[in-house]
Amino acid sequence: MIIILKAGVTETDAQTLLAQIESKGLKPLYMPGVERTVLGAIGDERVLQSLNLDGNPIVDEIKPILSKYKLVSRELNPIDTHVMLGNHAVGGDTFTVIAGPCGVESREQLLGVAQMLGKHGIAALRGGAFKPRTSPYSFQGLGVEGLKLLKQANQATGLPTVSEVIDASDVELMADYIDCFQIGARNAQNYRLLEAVGEQQKPVLLKRGMSSTVEELLLAAEYIVNAGNPNVILCERGIRTFETATRNTLDLNAVAYLKRKTHLPVLVDPSHGTGVRELIAPLSYAAAAVGADGIIVESHLNPCEALSDGHQALDAQQFAALMTGLRPFVHAAGKKL
Ligand code: PEP
Ligand code: MN
Repeated sequence: MIIILKAGVTETDAQTLLAQIESKGLKPLYMPGVERTVLGAIGDERVLQSLNLDGNPIVDEIKPILSKYKLVSRELNPIDTHVMLGNHAVGGDTFTVIAGPCGVESREQLLGVAQMLGKHGIAALRGGAFKPRTSPYSFQGLGVEGLKLLKQANQATGLPTVSEVIDASDVELMADYIDCFQIGARNAQNYRLLEAVGEQQKPVLLKRGMSSTVEELLLAAEYIVNAGNPNVILCERGIRTFETATRNTLDLNAVAYLKRKTHLPVLVDPSHGTGVRELIAPLSYAAAAVGADGIIVESHLNPCEALSDGHQALDAQQFAALMTGLRPFVHAAGKKL
């Protein structure tokens, strides 16, 4: 429920009403605006009847929140959320580029690619230390050793780091080494994990599950925000369809749709979305054109030697070409790069 207060209502009066809402077991939200204060009441709205809000002299208007997801919806908060990665605001007027290898493999590999990418002014370095692989025989990541290398790369380049968490019990440990948690497609509906990253304040890059609907993605984000962490970045990374020409089908409909429905920033992952190196640049341009807040791209100085996803990694020259080609699209979309 959205409760719009009359102009001139004091904070004390608003807080009294919020306390009444909370006493009914609902989650109270206080959103002071320039002209009006708006309150939110999230939960089973039927219990609010006993508060007789219609007759309350400080209440101007009451509106139900129609979507199933409340906290992440634009109905509740029409203003874009900015999620800070170091000094960079994801969702602000600068197009976000996050790049790095699929997996952290060695000190030379990570620091080498981080230095190359840093020169292009990327916002953050990605790299998996814990890799959720389809086959148990594939490279599973370096684990804690990989986290230590991410920290070293951060110290060497100043780039904030993004890395995937695959188990709720790793959240506390990882928080010492990285700046942003990635929730991968395979864990997009692991609700205990979503709550665990919601119970801390570092940003969370939430990927769409490969069979998740847009509503399921938004409800997954709702779990994180409802647990107390508003710093959520959504990521479209392609879905499973009948099409087999590409690894996944990058659903750019979803990006345009999400931008209308949620105030959270939306990134696109053209690397996993296509799985085809040559398609990463055109789909990055399309992502900018459709209104995405940025991209997350896999890059490796020596893709032939990569231990995971080498076939879709961009080398130094290909990454430079991507950045040059991207610029006019980002500018046309009214953003900076
Ligand atoms: C990754 O980013 O390397 C990854 C495993 O992505 P996804 O969860 O989208 O498959
Ligand atoms: Mn990958």
